[in-house]
Amino acid sequence: MHAFSAPRRASSVPSTTLTPPTTSSSAASATTSSPSPTSTTTSHSSEAPSANACSSTLAGTQPAVAQAGNFLKEKFSVDSVGGRAGRSGASDHPAGLALDFMVDTKTGNALAAYVLAHQHELGAKYVIWQQRYNDGSGWSAMEDRGGETANHDDHVHVSFERGAKVSVTC
Ligand SMILES: [Zn+2]
Repeated sequence: MHAFSAPRRASSVPSTTLTPPTTSSSAASATTSSPSPTSTTTSHSSEAPSANACSSTLAGTQPAVAQAGNFLKEKFSVDSVGGRAGRSGASDHPAGLALDFMVDTKTGNALAAYVLAHQHELGAKYVIWQQRYNDGSGWSAMEDRGGETANHDDHVHVSFERGAKVSVTC
């Protein structure tokens, strides 16, 4: 049993006005292209991966951020992802350029490593995980902020480059 205190995601379900009007059923055009011959998925078991671009909607974040986030959310089976939120202090959350993946340690380790290994494809700027910061040049320790969430022990924070080009399929 995990000491997984129920995360109080500040506003992961924002009010209805954030959804762009054009995304709902516009992906029908890509279905006729031949499926890619190389199946790259190794760990995902039986869920047939339909090769569609990942949704560009996620917790009020910018479209490219949302696409990267939905890709990671699905790949690592993350239930809870926080996105745009008002935060005190410097943060990429208010701009919709950051995501918080609520994870256990094992998943967090894997997710953080994956993001850093695919930093440019995902448009990721830096990762914070377990009181450490990494912008691609190695982990550095952060100060103790006094709590599990403040120290990023229960979630991986990923900040993204503004205007990054992200191409991922879900
Ligand atoms: Zn965060």
